Amino acid sequence: MKKYILILICLFLCGCQKQQEMEEIQLFAMDTFMDLKASGENGREALLKAEKEINHLERLFSTTLEQSEVFQINQNAGQTAVSVSDDTLHLMQKAKEYYTLTDGAFDITIAPVVKAWGFTEEVKKVPSEEELQQKLQLVSNDKLRIENNTILLEQKNMAVDLGGIAKGYTSDKVNEILKQEGITSAVLYLGGNVSVIGRKEDNTKWRVAIQDPLEEEKFAGILNIEDCSIITSGVYQRFFEQNGKKYHHIIDSRTGKPAETGLLSVTIVSKNGTMADALSTSFMVMGVEKSSDLWKKSNDFGAIFITNKKEIYITQDIADAFELEQSEYTLHIIEK
Ligand code: AMP
Ligand code: MG
Repeated sequence: MKKYILILICLFLCGCQKQQEMEEIQLFAMDTFMDLKASGENGREALLKAEKEINHLERLFSTTLEQSEVFQINQNAGQTAVSVSDDTLHLMQKAKEYYTLTDGAFDITIAPVVKAWGFTEEVKKVPSEEELQQKLQLVSNDKLRIENNTILLEQKNMAVDLGGIAKGYTSDKVNEILKQEGITSAVLYLGGNVSVIGRKEDNTKWRVAIQDPLEEEKFAGILNIEDCSIITSGVYQRFFEQNGKKYHHIIDSRTGKPAETGLLSVTIVSKNGTMADALSTSFMVMGVEKSSDLWKKSNDFGAIFITNKKEIYITQDIADAFELEQSEYTLHIIEK
């Protein structure tokens, strides 16, 4: 229900008279609702190709489908290297790159810990300290070996989970397909991640809502944007409550527990959706200061941080594109 409301907000903001003529496909994949819209003569055909690609990538990256390559890699942990497709190989390599770039904050070998919290299971629960320590022993990016076109997890019971990066990669692939098909105006909503091609048909920029993490049906602000991905990680996206305390799904691999940096959400704006996805997850673990240091050394993304103190920190490069909607938030600009 919550996701549906967000979509409506997003669509409302993206709305314009002409957009009603856009072709649209909705699907449920990668554990989330997706909505793809494109204009142009072969909009429908292009979207059908995009849908096919999404289903194909899901079959490679799923941790639960037994035929998936990720499932096979996890099944063969401590035993055999698994030959994988170019997509899986590339994404695993990228995941390792972001592990290094974020000083270990982004770590796909966190999977056994995520599982212990039940985030990939039917029942979510707080694991015992003993169980956590045991699972943390299985978290080791150095034991994820990528050689030629094979992947090996060197220790038995290790596992990987591409949940923090797969949707960003998928949006990049879908973008590529749509552009190859000649699409110059499109908006893709992949469960919390928005990706836009070009501008709206009336040549104005897309208006993408950034959710208020404290109020489900409101948004903190709006980004006026073109040709980029806007990817958000937030404590409200997947969580459970036990004994009055909330536990969210982004895990700090140093503690094995949900990251506690005072951040409620991080949005990354970039032409590179894969990077945006990896960084939005990582920045939840790294906190505003460390993440800002990384931003200062880069020039290929902008970031919006929303804290539990009702503050919004936004990087200078995207500050002009942002309209604050919630007056109770204080806006700070991060400068280089
Ligand atoms: P996202 O919604 O992109 O922020 O990704 C969150 C998902 O990434 C979680 O549901 C886990 O499956 C996985 N995950 C959790 N913590 C981490 C982490 N520290 N590094 C990489 N992936 C993670
Ligand atoms: Mg992510």
